[in-house]
Amino acid sequence: MTIQMFGLPVSGGVAIGRAVLVASSRVDVAHYFIEPGNAAAEVTRLRHARDTVSSELTTLKNELTSEAPPELAALLEVHLMLLRDPMLIEATKHWIEARHYNAEWAVTAQTEVLARQFDEMEDDYLRERKADIEQVAERVLRVLAKEESLLPHVVHARGFGGKDQLVLVANDIAPADMLQFKGSVFTGFVTDVGGRTSHTAIVARSMGIPAVVGAREASRLIRQDDWLIIDGDTGVLVINPTPIVLEEYKFRQRQSELERAKLHRLRHMPSVTLDGQAIELLANIELPADAANALQAGAVGVGLFRSEFMFMNRNGDLPDEDEQFEAYRAAVQSMNGLPVTIRTVDIGADKPLDRMTMHELRHEHALNPALGLRAIRWSLSEPAMFRQQLRAILRASAYGKVRVLIPMVAQRGELIAIMEAFAQTKQQLKAVGQAFNPIEVGAMIEVPAAAMTMPLLLRHFDFVSIGTNDLIQYTLAIDRADETVAHLYDPWHPAVLGLIANVIEAANAAGKPVSVCGEMAGDTAFTELLLGLGLRSLSMHPSQISAVKQRVLRSDSVKLAKLARDAIGSEDPERAWLSANNKAALRSANR
Ligand code: PEP
Ligand code: MG
Repeated sequence: MTIQMFGLPVSGGVAIGRAVLVASSRVDVAHYFIEPGNAAAEVTRLRHARDTVSSELTTLKNELTSEAPPELAALLEVHLMLLRDPMLIEATKHWIEARHYNAEWAVTAQTEVLARQFDEMEDDYLRERKADIEQVAERVLRVLAKEESLLPHVVHARGFGGKDQLVLVANDIAPADMLQFKGSVFTGFVTDVGGRTSHTAIVARSMGIPAVVGAREASRLIRQDDWLIIDGDTGVLVINPTPIVLEEYKFRQRQSELERAKLHRLRHMPSVTLDGQAIELLANIELPADAANALQAGAVGVGLFRSEFMFMNRNGDLPDEDEQFEAYRAAVQSMNGLPVTIRTVDIGADKPLDRMTMHELRHEHALNPALGLRAIRWSLSEPAMFRQQLRAILRASAYGKVRVLIPMVAQRGELIAIMEAFAQTKQQLKAVGQAFNPIEVGAMIEVPAAAMTMPLLLRHFDFVSIGTNDLIQYTLAIDRADETVAHLYDPWHPAVLGLIANVIEAANAAGKPVSVCGEMAGDTAFTELLLGLGLRSLSMHPSQISAVKQRVLRSDSVKLAKLARDAIGSEDPERAWLSANNKAALRSANR
């Protein structure tokens, strides 16, 4: 049956493929692909886990005393039977051999298929066996987690995994887990939860594949292997489309690919407005390996290297100074002398250090994580770690042009502590004869308090970069990762635009560089407005650079300045901006 649903479109284009469900199991499960040649070894690992659980259950059953309730022995017997049943472990083999999932992922995929079958059973007794299947699977997963695979985790290039394209469907997926699918087999992505600028959506967007988040019931309604259309422009999802609908979307997919190919031709053209203003287009990256992509897309530097991704999912084993130095140096060297702006760790809120679901994050670990110990607050609460990161960044500066960016600065006390940490680390490096170059230190403007105290920040920092994702969240008091309030997350709000205009104006007046590195920078709906507000530098996902450049090439910054001022001063800036631009377009068409 065809089902149509809606979510929030976060990355444009159309994807058509078979659904791969990444189940949110109660046990923390790693999802990765294995090399096809290692499938037999992974199946052996699975069978070994099954045998371990089997002996655990047999021991439990044998140790039951005569006082134990008889139902307990019966239950253990049922669990043992399920474990031996080919529909569980043997069928799981299919996901390992045909799809090359790791054993844990394969178990959750098969458990899901079975759970759905049990849900549909008429017989109450049989329907209730679903819980037993889940309990047995959970035991197997626990054993697998203890005996982690030593086989290499691989990210397969597109085209891997059979002739059909695959799309990823999840209830919720942590940003770091999402990152491991970058450049992988998936050609589209859907989640039930998340807002447009949640970090999971940001990573999905950086993959340059069509993506929809906040689709509420998607992972419940979509089944493993269902055909799925993901329209990343409108947020529409079509499950098991009819042939006519499929043809229509295939046509749109071809159109959108042609459009992309056309834009790609702009990548090495200089980014200059009609009136000769040079506009710097920089890239946002998450890993050093992304630098190659940035260059390919025509970026003239990295405006935001989100270093925290290197710190995630390591079970507390954080990267030391040398490991960080190597990563920063790799990014710097890949950029061939172009600037690389490394942001110090921005951990916390929807970017936990270790794997956690959004639910755990919101409810178990901090009263209000977005307002808690995140970003520079976390770094300053871990002074040794902070100094280690600064030393690693300083050392990388000997290999190219490095700048450092501090997330979420809002207080004078923080500013002083940051500058002291810098002075101290430079001293330490000098003392041991480590080479480094002078580096500029910038502040991210992502808290209204910072946007309203620009003179103070501009006295101490060399440049600023506006983090619009958080600036919108904190100005409007809307959790950026919460799909239930996503309709209120409004970049066009006059308060948001007023703060952005204020920051750009203050930095320009002080002669200090200002950039935007939040998602607004890569959204072509805002390109002309930001240019009109006096912005000359934008940092975005590499895949967005050409489309933004196309807008820049058609812009006249002098004309835009007046239009932008009028629009942001109006009651409804979005409407005012659109109508002013339509009039301007009409005027130039009539000329
Ligand atoms: C922002 O807040 O706009 C930003 C760029 O930082 P992040 O999205 O990583 O919080
Ligand atoms: Mg931010």
